[in-house]
Amino acid sequence: MNPRIGVMAGLAADGPCFEALCAAGLNCCQLVSWNPELWTPACAQRVKAEIAARNVRVTAFWSGYPGPSVWDLLDGPRTLGLVPAEYRAMRVAALKHAADFARQLGLPAIITHLGFIPEEPANPLFAELVAAVREIALHAQQQDVAFWFETGQETPVTMLRLIEAVGTDNLGINLDPANLILYGKGNPIDALDVFGACVRNVHAKDAFYPTDPMRLGREVKVGDGRVRFPEFVRRLEELGFHGEYIIEREISGAQQQRDIIETISYLERLLA
Ligand code: MG
Repeated sequence: MNPRIGVMAGLAADGPCFEALCAAGLNCCQLVSWNPELWTPACAQRVKAEIAARNVRVTAFWSGYPGPSVWDLLDGPRTLGLVPAEYRAMRVAALKHAADFARQLGLPAIITHLGFIPEEPANPLFAELVAAVREIALHAQQQDVAFWFETGQETPVTMLRLIEAVGTDNLGINLDPANLILYGKGNPIDALDVFGACVRNVHAKDAFYPTDPMRLGREVKVGDGRVRFPEFVRRLEELGFHGEYIIEREISGAQQQRDIIETISYLERLLA
């Protein structure tokens, strides 16, 4: 088993987090939670013990945030991430809390979606977003935790501009190639020309572009969509990427499990 292949593991309120991961024969994951109430020192201790007992490697804490999230092109801009002013303060607080939790778990990074980052550098909203991201990044830096941004709701050049404007040395990208396609924001292979050097982790996920301009495109099993995974992985490896490929399949039930198992073998072949 290639140790660079992993899946997402959900933070459980109590009970194990990594059973499904181990059952799939993997030992690498990102830990995800959208519930800040769970991010306590006691929970960190419990999860840390499970990480040690199962010999699991957690590459980052994927942190959600409070307030509404609408995953489409119509209401997404006013609900997602740190862009909407209405929810920004409580989300900045939640992400600082996430960095503390990551520190307690001994994890190297937190990840989140920033939202629909304004594409125009002179838009006042861009400067407000930069200040909010910097506040979290500086807090995370004190915990020795990096802050990675999940791609999708912005063009690659805008993501790079945000990273340079924030300017701390603990920033990076969690590249979800399917999100760039789902939101119609870019071609993931070409995006590597723009921000390839910033990529720290990859979500192995695939999709088709939107055809309804109010809705996202359609997510599919890795290899079945428009990412063009053989070329994508080859280009990443050429660039010296040495991070992890974390599989995401955003359906549930038996089909999800089958698709994840097939994707593990598919990625193993590509990385061999
Ligand atoms: Mg993702």
